Amino acid sequence: MKVKTGKWGADVRFMRTEIVSKLWNIEQIILHHCPWIEECTITSGNDGKHMKRSKHYKNTAVDIRTWAVGSGGKRRYIDDEKPAMMSIINDLNVFFGPDYQLMWHDKDHLHIEWDP
Ligand SMILES: [Zn+2]
Repeated sequence: MKVKTGKWGADVRFMRTEIVSKLWNIEQIILHHCPWIEECTITSGNDGKHMKRSKHYKNTAVDIRTWAVGSGGKRRYIDDEKPAMMSIINDLNVFFGPDYQLMWHDKDHLHIEWDP
């Protein structure tokens, strides 16, 4: 699992343990169904690009990229491979209890928040 850096990077300095403790399993679930992702990337934590009341500002939400650059330099999206996407969603729902919410945002990223 890596963290996006640079000007539009993710700020995960103060991410709550309720999220941090889940990241390894999230990555394993995604890679199990989409090994071509190779490594998951956190694209957003507590950084200034969310709606005002977002859980991102409480350090209880992360965004994880749901695409990778494939051969030929084109983006390959998990969203375009529906059986794999449904398997990932199913596994995440098995893994997470009722205190978490998952949202697939467009094709770009998976938003995961702790909302007890
Ligand atoms: Zn988000």
